[in-house]
Amino acid sequence: MKIEIEELKPLLNSVSKEIFENPETAYKEYKASKLLIETLKKEEFEVKKNICGYETAFMAQYGKGKMKIAFLAEYDALPEIGHGCGHNIIASAGIGAGIAFKKLIEKNDLDATVYVIGCPGEEAEGAKVAFSEEGIFKDIDVVMMIHPADRTLIKERFLAIRELRFKFYGKTSHAAASPEKGINALDGVILTYNNINALRQHLREDVRIHGIITSGGAAPNIVPDYAEAYFFVRATDNEYLEKMLKKVKNCAIGASKATGTELKIEMGKGYKAFYPNDTLADIFEKNIKSLGITVDKPKEFGGLGSSDIGNVSCVVPSIHPFIKISDKELRSHSKEFAQASISEKGYGAIMIGAKAMILTALDIIENPELLKKIKAEFVPR
Ligand SMILES: [Zn+2]
Ligand SMILES: [Zn+2]
Repeated sequence: MKIEIEELKPLLNSVSKEIFENPETAYKEYKASKLLIETLKKEEFEVKKNICGYETAFMAQYGKGKMKIAFLAEYDALPEIGHGCGHNIIASAGIGAGIAFKKLIEKNDLDATVYVIGCPGEEAEGAKVAFSEEGIFKDIDVVMMIHPADRTLIKERFLAIRELRFKFYGKTSHAAASPEKGINALDGVILTYNNINALRQHLREDVRIHGIITSGGAAPNIVPDYAEAYFFVRATDNEYLEKMLKKVKNCAIGASKATGTELKIEMGKGYKAFYPNDTLADIFEKNIKSLGITVDKPKEFGGLGSSDIGNVSCVVPSIHPFIKISDKELRSHSKEFAQASISEKGYGAIMIGAKAMILTALDIIENPELLKKIKAEFVPR
């Protein structure tokens, strides 16, 4: 089967450039989603918008065949630094794989359906959480996306994350004249912070707990009646994260008892840990190597963030390989990273990613045993 993707290069590069030049932050990706939808419609994809109520989300479909393969696109930028996470490359590679795969289905009469799913807001509370919970992936066999980085890594994990807001309520009073009449909400926050620091020694080393004080009183001569701390808690698996959350909450509950303050704990939805499908990742690795790309050694633990692809990987076999766009070390979420996303290597990564994803999809279609293996390995979480 001949893969027609080389000729898409000018189109994919211009899509990446246009998204780069018009950076839009989470859930405001109006121009980017419009551009991607229009490009896919020209290629005869049927496009549904407003997925799970997200205005800038979309689901594009071509074909009605048995094997259902989805490529994901992200396209949100970061405040102030624009595409410092290179989502312009993810979007372009996603539609590139989608369009080239559509041509394969069309010309070879493959028994397959291809989807390109537009996933907004990855840098905020990503839409893939709702997509995963509301069954968007329920009929899909495998999900693939790529992400730029300073190394090519195939099975990199992501940490499960939850956010917690501790709100302490006390009573104001003159801090010198009548301190005994006040209840100090700031003390609730400070003790929480210190309790968490005491907890750290007894946690697994993959746990990350990091927080800030977002409110700590109005003036030194007023006993603060309100104080607030905002924390992220992360771990490499969902189960351990749940255990940690209980302990971290207890740090605040203890602080509230000690200070006599009222405590409210608010929790965000967070992201689940990312469990790449080993079999699918191995096929992708074989294919990216066949394109002459060197795969880097996986990192020792460390350098891991969190992403809503985690939630996807808990409902459908998924991969999220990283593709190198720079020979120099790059910090994610930096201006240098943004520039690298439109460098020659940045443009090159679009084609490498799209090709490796298509070759992987083709392997699965041509060899049904592979899909069986992928599914046998998959554990819903
Ligand atoms: Zn990012
Ligand atoms: Zn990213």
